[in-house]
Amino acid sequence: MSSVLSDTVALVTGASSGIGAATARALAAEGAAVAVVGRRRDRLDDVAGSITAAGGSTLVVQADLTDAAQAAGAVQRVVSELGRLDTVVNNAGLMLTGPVADAPADEWERMLAINVNALLEVTRAALPHLRKAAQDSPRRVADLVNISSTAGRVARPGTAVYNLTKFGVNGFTEALRQEVMRERVRVSVVEPGTVDTELGSHVRAGIREQITRMTEGMEMLRPEDIADAVTYIVTRDRRVAVNEVLVRAAEQT
Ligand code: NDP
Repeated sequence: MSSVLSDTVALVTGASSGIGAATARALAAEGAAVAVVGRRRDRLDDVAGSITAAGGSTLVVQADLTDAAQAAGAVQRVVSELGRLDTVVNNAGLMLTGPVADAPADEWERMLAINVNALLEVTRAALPHLRKAAQDSPRRVADLVNISSTAGRVARPGTAVYNLTKFGVNGFTEALRQEVMRERVRVSVVEPGTVDTELGSHVRAGIREQITRMTEGMEMLRPEDIADAVTYIVTRDRRVAVNEVLVRAAEQT
């Protein structure tokens, strides 16, 4: 059966868990061949297995995207093995929260490395291929979707450096959107609210309890809710550009 993304190739970063895994499955269900990128090989294999079991097509690419050469290499591998690149979802990310004054420097470096630098390197490597896909694919459009956060729109005490990275992603997305829109490369940003994933598990002891208290009793979003938003963006007709989607949990302030 032909679906909207049939004969297209998508690359999803951070596809080994959470939002990225759900997005990879959703794009595969729409007919895209999906490259799943991340560091944890076993988890990527699980996601790829679920895509194949559902009749989809996939490629596992193990890479630490904070290494610029590995980020570029991951994009090149996808194009070499799957032949093209129509859709990129820059999803890989890390949230290490806590007051600025108490923060270990390595936490800031790790967040900047994946939330900002890796997104830039994947984008740099992918753009020529997206431009080409926008010209010679039957759909005549290509998509770059950056996963930001409500933290890219609203700053709060305790998330300053995460805010810095996600406000940055929003600004970068809007500037790049205007740079390449005439080439039919659509650049969009999705800002998830609180999603039930592994994201909060990487914080220091003490901070984890604060996060748990903040979300206590709230029905969180599921990764599939964000995958829906990404799928909506990339399946629109080429005349439509959904620039920005903010998805909060219903009870989230
Ligand atoms: P997860 O922790 O489940 O997913 C994060 C993903 O990023 C993992 O697949 C991880 O893969 C990947 N990743 C981290 N570091 C690297 C690296 N160096 N190289 C390659 N991949 C890496 O959390 P989420 O699914 O929640 O997060 C996905 C995105 O959504 C992030 O950008 C996050 O900021 C954003 N977001 C999440 C929200 C939430 O409430 N959950 C809210 C708002 C935004 P691996 O470890 O295998 O490398």
